[in-house]
Amino acid sequence: MGKALIIGAGGVASVCIHKCCQNSDVFEEICIASRTKSKCDALKAKLDGGKTKISTAQVNADNVDELIALINQFKPDVVINLALPYQDLTIMDACLATKVNYVDTANYEPLDTAKFEYSWQWAYRERFEKAGITALLGSGFDPGVTGVFSAYAMKHQFDEINYIDILDCNAGDHGYPFATNFNPEINIREVSAKGSYIEDGKWVETEPMEIKRVYNFPEIGEKDMYLLHHEELESLALNIKGIKRIRFFMTFGQSYLTHLKCLENVGMTSIEPIDFEGHKIVPLQFLKAVLPDPASLGPRTVGKTNIGCIFIGKKDGKDKTYYLYNVCDHQECYKEVGSQAISYTTGVPAMIGAAMLLTGKWNKPGVHNIEEFDPDPFMEALNTFGLPWKESFNPDLVE
Ligand code: NDP
Repeated sequence: MGKALIIGAGGVASVCIHKCCQNSDVFEEICIASRTKSKCDALKAKLDGGKTKISTAQVNADNVDELIALINQFKPDVVINLALPYQDLTIMDACLATKVNYVDTANYEPLDTAKFEYSWQWAYRERFEKAGITALLGSGFDPGVTGVFSAYAMKHQFDEINYIDILDCNAGDHGYPFATNFNPEINIREVSAKGSYIEDGKWVETEPMEIKRVYNFPEIGEKDMYLLHHEELESLALNIKGIKRIRFFMTFGQSYLTHLKCLENVGMTSIEPIDFEGHKIVPLQFLKAVLPDPASLGPRTVGKTNIGCIFIGKKDGKDKTYYLYNVCDHQECYKEVGSQAISYTTGVPAMIGAAMLLTGKWNKPGVHNIEEFDPDPFMEALNTFGLPWKESFNPDLVE
């Protein structure tokens, strides 16, 4: 049916590429392009021989001209951006110049400020609409499936949704004292930033990890979780009817938090460049280089993730509560595609989002967050491609 250019060859890209190959009627041809071509070639070597034709290329995704040249040469129907959030705008620029659809899993962040908001990408709305192409923003799990869950709840369960709590629990154990499950730099920037949530149309800011709750997760049990800022709060508060409050919680174990605090206290999580023996280095980037590569955690990680949304609202004038979630097992993911569940739960929705555009099931020129589309075909694909969802009408609530 179509051709996809996948940019990036890390943990998430690896899963997405496996899944494109499992969906070869839609993904007839893919090109894997990244900064380090050997990683693209290794993925090709693993997956070659199936129905999906695979090629590879070297590209610096910070350089718009290089991206345009690659797109003109490969002529994809969609570009799936699985590099880092810093590359979002250059890849969107190249898609605009070549009139190709765009999909990503994380919103743009400037390299020098840990600031998460959609303003930079939403500024492309009119230009994408005029060019007749679609940018699908945030097609991972959170953001991504959490937005699809919200659109599905709105469409099928509620007349209005007043409260959403997004709960992200990773109960996986990789056996290291400290490691992150996706790109360490992006992960640490996210969790060391101030927390925030939206109440009555306004952002309420908290200190990092200030708000803690304990939640009894289905199929996992009780875990400590902490309120974080998360990008989908911004778009969901605009796109879901009736929102009064929306919050995001993520679980962290005590060992992770103690290590993080220590690293913060000694300055290792700073993104301010420092002089080191005549070189400028960014402490957080150096830390990334000494931490375990998230892609290497797959064989060692055991346990499950549970990510989902609790909705409280009204249906036919009555109060209603509804919980939609997915449980994913790290070892099952590893057996299937050689990755742990965090990469899996992001790579599968990235493939599905791109498939929605390639099949024309979703077709809305402009720049859109995922909850703006019909959730039904995406929800069906989650069940088909390894992320089945469950629902509960009587969940525990978060205080
Ligand atoms: P990795 O660090 O494992 O992979 C990133 C890849 O991008 C690497 O292959 C890297 O190349 C490549 N890359 C980085 N910079 C460039 C560049 N300038 N040009 C070309 N390629 C580049 O990250 P993950 O796979 O863990 O994460 C990928 C994305 O997924 C991130 O944006 C992350 O924020 C997002 N994410 C989203 C989630 C969600 O639920 N929505 C959850 C988890 C992650 P090299 O190998 O040379 O370093």
